[in-house]
Amino acid sequence: MRRPIQDLPDELISQIAAGEVVERPASVVRELVDNALDAGAHQITVRLLAGGVRLISVEDDGCGIPPEELPVALRRHATSKVRDLHELESVTTMGFRGEALAAVASVSQTSILSRTADADSAWLLDAHSGELRRAARAQGTTLEVKELFFSTPARRKFLKTDATELAHCIESVRRHALARPDVGFAIWHEGKLVEQWRALPPDTERSQALARRLADVLGQDFVDQSLPVERVFHNGAITVYGRAGLPDAARNRGDQQYSYVNGRFVRDKVISHAAKAAYEDVLHGHKQPVYALYIEIDPLRVDVNVHPTKIEVRFRDSREVHQAVKHAVEDALAVPRAQLLTQTEP
Ligand code: ADP
Ligand code: MG
Repeated sequence: MRRPIQDLPDELISQIAAGEVVERPASVVRELVDNALDAGAHQITVRLLAGGVRLISVEDDGCGIPPEELPVALRRHATSKVRDLHELESVTTMGFRGEALAAVASVSQTSILSRTADADSAWLLDAHSGELRRAARAQGTTLEVKELFFSTPARRKFLKTDATELAHCIESVRRHALARPDVGFAIWHEGKLVEQWRALPPDTERSQALARRLADVLGQDFVDQSLPVERVFHNGAITVYGRAGLPDAARNRGDQQYSYVNGRFVRDKVISHAAKAAYEDVLHGHKQPVYALYIEIDPLRVDVNVHPTKIEVRFRDSREVHQAVKHAVEDALAVPRAQLLTQTEP
């Protein structure tokens, strides 16, 4: 029997949308750290309970949100980052869809505590009750997400053990940390500090800062067993830099392959294929190269608005990106070993 067509209730719309963005605690961590970075944070602290299922708190020292805008931040499609199509096409922030907080709040108990530079106090908004009250905090924002999927038990059942969820949360922060050596990160789980990566001074030369952050996050071995990548193409329209592992450092799993487009961690077939192709002559069998590759590209040459989580991008000309990545990595691998010893940063 046919039922009449009706608008879905607002909350259900958010919960459906949340399904695309929030798969597990690590997705919440990713969105909240994205927001902290967009707010210009220098230090970001992530606190978790039960692998993030019971609590995810992300604390930053960014610009903060004024009290009158706190309820707006939680609304769907509300953002301070883009205003029109032109801005969308040249977007440089991590966020722009105005979806994350609405989605997260619809599947958890969320609160925002925030203070702007010129405010005389901080304000706390409870997303569920809508209650807004004065609170104490230095400049910045703390997002608290409790009991993820408490209202959608079917989703909650898909979660793995706390240890597995924690590992995904840490990986999510690691991806951000590898893109931003100038920002300090700390991760706490059940009251214990599990990871801490200190901010490098902003005047540190880029390849040095990166080498040090890579050593902190992935281990000194990664740096010792990799070569610096650095090449500019098309008069600066595309730059590829980072580090490419020596063939000997290749692994059975592709778990140390980090690629970024304009500071955003992406999984992209064009980039991974190009990187693999650069190793063609030096890597045999099923070994996977390790690398951290950063592609800086004119925002007009890439569309970041193809996937709700923005993990995929679409290049206007994927051939030109493929060539750039392949040539940049090939160049790095071609440097004679003797020369390398003086180039590898401590
Ligand atoms: P988006 O990041 O796509 O704009 P979000 O739902 O993630 O959408 O956030 C909505 C808005 O809330 C942001 O545009 C921003 O203005 C504000 N906001 C969110 N998190 C923070 C934060 N940590 N610091 C300052 N502002 C924030
Ligand atoms: Mg966001």
